[in-house]
Amino acid sequence: YTNKNTHDIIRSGLNRSPLYTGKIKATGVRYCPSIEDKIVKFADKERHQVFLEPEGLDTIEYYPNGVSTSLPLDIQIKMLHSIEGLEQAEITKPGYGIEHDVVDPLELYPALETKRIRNLYLAGQINGTTGYEEAGAQGLIAGINAALRIKDKPALVLDRSSSYIGVLIDDLTTKGTNEPYRMFTSRVEYRLIIREDNADLRLRKIGHEIGLIKESEFKKVQKKEKEIHNGIAYLRKTSISPTIEVNNRLKQANTATIDKKISLEDLLKRPQIGIISLKKFDRIVFMKDAAKQIEIEVKYAGFIRRQFKEVERFKNLEKIRIPADLDYRPMPGLSREIREKLVMHRPLNLGQASRISGVTPAAISVLMVWLKKSGGK
Ligand SMILES: Cc1cc2nc3c(=O)[nH]c(=O)nc-3n(C[C@H](O)[C@H](O)[C@H](O)COP(=O)(O)OP(=O)(O)OC[C@H]3O[C@@H](n4cnc5c(N)ncnc54)[C@H](O)[C@@H]3O)c2cc1C
Repeated sequence: YTNKNTHDIIRSGLNRSPLYTGKIKATGVRYCPSIEDKIVKFADKERHQVFLEPEGLDTIEYYPNGVSTSLPLDIQIKMLHSIEGLEQAEITKPGYGIEHDVVDPLELYPALETKRIRNLYLAGQINGTTGYEEAGAQGLIAGINAALRIKDKPALVLDRSSSYIGVLIDDLTTKGTNEPYRMFTSRVEYRLIIREDNADLRLRKIGHEIGLIKESEFKKVQKKEKEIHNGIAYLRKTSISPTIEVNNRLKQANTATIDKKISLEDLLKRPQIGIISLKKFDRIVFMKDAAKQIEIEVKYAGFIRRQFKEVERFKNLEKIRIPADLDYRPMPGLSREIREKLVMHRPLNLGQASRISGVTPAAISVLMVWLKKSGGK
């Protein structure tokens, strides 16, 4: 941990920190603050944790995670030596600040192609994000779309209800960002159905369609899908009766006994019953992967169904296309501000238009009517 002495040393160097003297003007990464940032922003904290991460198997170098800094070297040395256990440590590579330019992501189509230069695709922190996954995810989509363009095929755009990638790129290209953008689960409105455990079920079909997923891999997912479907149907149509034996087993499982038949589906909905304990009541066997999905789908059916309804409403707006060169000038009832925003963002469907900050539901209605009248759907 850092300590009071460390913090005093850091404060004594702030007037030479490029972050605080104004030399670095860019907005820093909120979620990976430098140690000087932490000392200033969280002044009430008496210490900050430092993780010593070995740089490799055959090296004596460590990366002190938690004290990233752009303070002058003499301060860095004093700061490090003030930490218990690091009094003798030597700095082999000092910390330094970096500042990089970004392209406003509003300058991009959702396929990550720049609006101004056809066939130029951008991905990664140049688009205003920070993070490995954020960069990797965009790289994948930009690469796919560059390849699809060469093949003269339509672009691949994952929507917000399909994936985290969809939310990331939609946020960037419709809302923009004024600080390094990080992907969080909280940014995803449909996170009950966009789960890690069902990524294959959500995305393999798309991967297969664009030639990235082998036939054999795709077949596996199709098989799993079928197993899930059949499994749920089986649980729905199979019941258990209130026999003494059944009720004894229910008691053993700490769940209420029954006085009339209930389906295995309803039994599985009980919090005390999992897919594995169902075996005590029936001789069912599910494929391991499918079993987990069946359990989730049955237990959370009500919530999942509600979310699918929301997705359906969302998709209806996404389906209404807006031509990229639509002339917004003759549209009655649009304020000057909204018109300017629509011209600047050039949304490609009504869903995207509705997420541009400042574009009101009333403006969306105007657009919808206009598009229907002009057959631009
Ligand atoms: C100290 C530090 C710690 C971080 N820790 C984390 C972390 O723990 N977790 C996390 O998720 N993220 C972390 N990040 C953020 C993350 O590293 C970046 O956001 C991410 O790596 C950006 O990837 P990128 O591919 O967009 O850009 P980069 O990785 O910067 O790739 C751009 C590449 O382009 C090359 N290049 C530049 N100009 C040219 C040119 N003219 N011609 C050819 N090539 C060129 C560069 O050399 C570079 O290789 C950290 C960043 C820093 C600086």
